[in-house]
Amino acid sequence: MYLKSIELSGFKSFAKKSELNFTSKVSAIVGPNGSGKSNIAEAFRFVLGEQSIKSLRGKKGEDLIFNGAGDLPRGNRAGVKVVFDNSTKFLPVDYEEVIIERVVHRDSVNEYMINGSLVRLRDVIELLASAHIGASGHHIISQGEADRILNASIKERKAMIEEALGLKMYQYKKNESEKKLLKTKENISQVESLRREILPHIKFLKKQVEKVEKTIEMKKELTELALEYLCREDEYIKQTEKRIETLKSPLLEKEKNLDHELKEAKNVLETAKNKDEKSEELISLEHNLHKVRDEKDGLFRDFGRIDGELNSLSKLVKKQMEVAHSYEHKQVSLVSIETLYTEVEEKIKKARISRDVEALLKTLDEVSYLLTDFIDHNKDKVDMSLLTDANRDIENLKASKKQIEVSLDEIKGREHKLTEAYNALKTAIEKEKDKNRDAEKAVFRVMAESGEVRSRLESLHGEENILKMVKEDYKRELAELGHLLGAHILKFDHLSFLPAQAGDFNEPRVNQEERRRKIEKSKIRLEDSGGVGSADVLKEYNEVSDRDAFLAKELTDLEKSAESLLELIKDLDSRISIEFKTGLEKINTQFKEYFALMFGGGEAKLSVSHPIIKKKKDTDLMLDDEDFDSPDVESMTGEAEGNDGIEIEVNLPKKKVKGLMMLSGGERALTSIALLFAISQVNPPPFIILDETDAALDEANSKKYADMVENLSSRSQLIVITHNRETMSRAGVLYGVTMGNGGGSKLLSVSFDEALTTAK
Ligand code: ATP
Repeated sequence: MYLKSIELSGFKSFAKKSELNFTSKVSAIVGPNGSGKSNIAEAFRFVLGEQSIKSLRGKKGEDLIFNGAGDLPRGNRAGVKVVFDNSTKFLPVDYEEVIIERVVHRDSVNEYMINGSLVRLRDVIELLASAHIGASGHHIISQGEADRILNASIKERKAMIEEALGLKMYQYKKNESEKKLLKTKENISQVESLRREILPHIKFLKKQVEKVEKTIEMKKELTELALEYLCREDEYIKQTEKRIETLKSPLLEKEKNLDHELKEAKNVLETAKNKDEKSEELISLEHNLHKVRDEKDGLFRDFGRIDGELNSLSKLVKKQMEVAHSYEHKQVSLVSIETLYTEVEEKIKKARISRDVEALLKTLDEVSYLLTDFIDHNKDKVDMSLLTDANRDIENLKASKKQIEVSLDEIKGREHKLTEAYNALKTAIEKEKDKNRDAEKAVFRVMAESGEVRSRLESLHGEENILKMVKEDYKRELAELGHLLGAHILKFDHLSFLPAQAGDFNEPRVNQEERRRKIEKSKIRLEDSGGVGSADVLKEYNEVSDRDAFLAKELTDLEKSAESLLELIKDLDSRISIEFKTGLEKINTQFKEYFALMFGGGEAKLSVSHPIIKKKKDTDLMLDDEDFDSPDVESMTGEAEGNDGIEIEVNLPKKKVKGLMMLSGGERALTSIALLFAISQVNPPPFIILDETDAALDEANSKKYADMVENLSSRSQLIVITHNRETMSRAGVLYGVTMGNGGGSKLLSVSFDEALTTAK
């Protein structure tokens, strides 16, 4: 026996704590009308989790609390406690005894407890479902509800049978899984839409990242080129400086000595007593030639300076030309953009008014053409304003250079004439062989040598000028590369670079020129690539793609869980369907027997019916239980499995009565009792409560009923509320309920004879 006791306190008419112990297989509750017997059956439903107050004959939770009567004041709470013996573990918890308690307060707040711990309603329902007990189940038949199963709709009937077969647990699980599946599907579409939202951003960032990666690659290439170039250039400058210095210092020394010798020779000639006319002329010629040569040196220096300036200006212009032609730095005037905007706006305005899709598409094409044309037009445009100033300076410098060249030509002519006169005088003096000859000879030699030294110094000076330009270029290039590639490039160490080619610095200059051209090209490409803000782009791309990967993983997980939920639902469905089918067969066998026993023959059967969804209108779907076998079969569109129900077919002995509608009240009671008992036999619940189910039976049938009660009690505990002496006679324990003088229900153990006083 599973049911040990029930305790009511403040529940309906039971103002005081009242306990019923169920020590017998059959317990009967007896008492006069209105004493509170049915309240006990309702107390069972209440404590087992019934949510419909209406089915407990109330409107709100408060109606279940003792409302005061006679001397007794109204209570604040109604509580019912039911105690189960769980030594067989028919309830799947690890307790020998399970106490389920429910309390309702005046504010309609409910509390549920299992063995004293507060739990949720859901926990109570789950625990009981596993033992085929439910609040409104087949095992608690309320007063006047004996034929509830006959009155119920085919769908409700099916639900009752499912509960009796213990399928509610599966259905509960199925419902939960369906809810979870729905939620999972919602999550899937949310994640999908999130992924769709970030997709364009990822695509955009990916392009940016590709650009950045290309830029990094280009920078790497440029760094390699630059390092080799800079090392070689640095070495070239150092070596050239050294070489010039080595050549220049002995020449300067020699020039100094020659000047000294000349001075002395001239002194001799000037102080000589017999200084002749030719010597005078020689000194004057030498003086003039010296002057002309100094002047020429000055002009050469100016020429070199101007040439240097021209060189760097030309480079600047070239650079600015490249900038002006490059795509990246192209400038567009605001006026031209405003004009473009006006044109586009006009087209859009027109298109808006027309509201014609064709016209709209045409406008889109036109706008696209306008934009492409604008870009093409500006692509080839070069902003020459950048170059005007530099070009003007170049022109000025070129003019100065030209002037110097003219002066140089003129001075060279003068020098030539002086040299010719000088040579003529030299020949004349040679002929005369006077005593000043040694000094004169010295003057000639010094003049010749000094001319030689000067021209060598001049050429070195030229080289120095060129080197100066090379150094300036080098400095500028270094600064530019540092700006473009980072400061690390400035700290290059040519010894650590190119160790294999370290001695290879005497290569022809054109090789460096070639390298420089490559560097220039690479620099332009790098500037045009526009891969700036690389760190930010990479960071953002990584973040966004991490998020996408996370979402993708989440999506896979969700899809997997949706799949397994579907699988679970399918399993549960087939389990429910198989167990329902076999359960129904067993019920039918029992039903047939009980029915024949009750009616002394005849036949009864439960069958599954499939109502048809009929298509009334194109869009209107209507469910119609009753018409399923009407002649309107052509309009049937199919069976709706979810709306299956249970039909009851009866065939009374010796009567041509078929169908429930034609049964008398007593016959209905007998049929439903037979069915209820049959159901209980197939999957016996731990206990069955029958509240005056026998009310409509005559004496003969009362006996059969009592026999069946006894029969049933071998498998389930029975609590019968009855006025029927036959039923009472089968009870091991009898409880009497009376309405006390104070106004509340009272409980007392009674003997069979005492009980008979309330019997019919
Ligand atoms: P019958 O044999 O006629 O079916 P019964 O013994 O089953 O009667 P119940 O229907 O259980 O009687 O009890 C009804 C009694 O309970 C009524 O007298 C009703 O006034 C009383 N009752 C119901 N709710 C409350 C309540 N909240 N407070 C006090 N009394 C209540």
